[in-house]
Amino acid sequence: MNKNSRIYIAGGTGMVGSAIVRRLLAEGYYNIISNYHIKKPLASNLQPHTSGVNFVQLDLEIQNDVNDFFEHERPEYVFLAAAKVGGIYANNTYPADFIYNNLIIEANVLHSAYLYGVKKLLFLGSSCIYPRMAPQPMKEEYLLTGELEPTNEPYAISKIAGIKLCQSYNRQYGTKFISVMPTNLYGPNDSYDLMDSHVLPALIRKFHLANLLSQSKFDEIIKDLTRYGNAPSSLSYDGSSTSRAVASNVYPPTLIASLIDHLSKFGIKVSGSSPSVVASNLDPKSSIREASPSNLNPPTSNVFLEAWGTGTPRREFMYSEDMADACVFIMNLGDGVLASGLNPQTSNSFSSPSSLSPQTSIINIGTGEDITIRELTELIAEVVGYKGEIRWDASKPDGMPRKLLDVSLLHTLGWKHKTSIKDGLRLTYKDFLKNYDHP
Ligand code: NDP
Repeated sequence: MNKNSRIYIAGGTGMVGSAIVRRLLAEGYYNIISNYHIKKPLASNLQPHTSGVNFVQLDLEIQNDVNDFFEHERPEYVFLAAAKVGGIYANNTYPADFIYNNLIIEANVLHSAYLYGVKKLLFLGSSCIYPRMAPQPMKEEYLLTGELEPTNEPYAISKIAGIKLCQSYNRQYGTKFISVMPTNLYGPNDSYDLMDSHVLPALIRKFHLANLLSQSKFDEIIKDLTRYGNAPSSLSYDGSSTSRAVASNVYPPTLIASLIDHLSKFGIKVSGSSPSVVASNLDPKSSIREASPSNLNPPTSNVFLEAWGTGTPRREFMYSEDMADACVFIMNLGDGVLASGLNPQTSNSFSSPSSLSPQTSIINIGTGEDITIRELTELIAEVVGYKGEIRWDASKPDGMPRKLLDVSLLHTLGWKHKTSIKDGLRLTYKDFLKNYDHP
């Protein structure tokens, strides 16, 4: 890519897409276009470089609109970071949306990229494409060697279809479409919805809420539920008792009880008494803003956080800004490097008109390091400043004992991650707090 190349980031309002936009701007690229779908980009995420990027509204599920966009904008390089993304709950609840939306976005963008002569495209897949029983760490060659994890199979199948689309267009039309398989990602602009999000952002928010509850900061809890989602239907600012409570700083016991009960559904609980007993023990006027460790109300200082499983499974996490750096690095790899096929074990004998080797048409992106869920949970508690108890509910499923990507191909190509998990968590929590006040 040259600094004036026309670069399109599909999904530039998302966690990874916005990180790629920031990375490109920071490196001096200035001819960038991206799209928003429903959410407009947060201005605070792009400053101080907002001048080099133009956001337009586009629904990537509408084929004609995608075609018109490519015909009009003529991007030379494309980062395909738009997708329907979510955690286990969302995958389990909306399997049709996960397979349909992702298939159609990929098909529309990849076909238009071919039609309008895009020089190179990076398609973001996912590590969940690998078989659930794959040997660890997982190499690129394990694709399609076994059964997938059933909970997110529709999403994984759509991502595998995306990889196959890329490889097929490369074979038939000589395009340069590269699929990258990121590990679990986290960072600025993540989704903190407690029903739909991934484990790491959900834990950040739960610890934050647990802290607020243990300090009886009900005004802050209401602000959080309003800002990041999952507010109970009873919580409305429109002329309701909630807005009167917020305005007057007086929280009736019924409102407090319903908040405590609501948080308990997400594993943020108060030991001992029922929510209504806890609430009735609180003086509504003293249970707000000014609470400090010395005047904590005893009932809500018994807050604990319930975590799922035993905490022993091992998982890999990468900071999204590192992911963006890796994407820009791979996009800039010379054709010679990509054509050489660096991993002899994945060699494949089909002849391709593409200068892109089948060996480098899928590249794992990760840190190559994993930690236990218990270690991760304790690290997040430390970063968020949570000092309360964490109770492990071993009756809940653990999932696979280990999931780690083999990143030797990426390392051979010359890229390694830079951000430690602790530093990444600190930066992410800082962003979580910053966006509180800048919705
Ligand atoms: P986000 O949910 O944060 O962002 C998704 C982006 O896609 C948003 O900008 C969203 O816009 C856009 N989008 C979704 N549907 C449409 C549509 N119909 N038309 C236009 N835009 C649309 O996801 P991430 O940034 O976390 O993920 C980016 C990529 O990385 C995805 O392909 C994902 O599968 C992959 N990945 C992510 C991992 C993670 O841990 N987060 C792990 C592994 C892979 P809007 O919000 O307006 O709908």
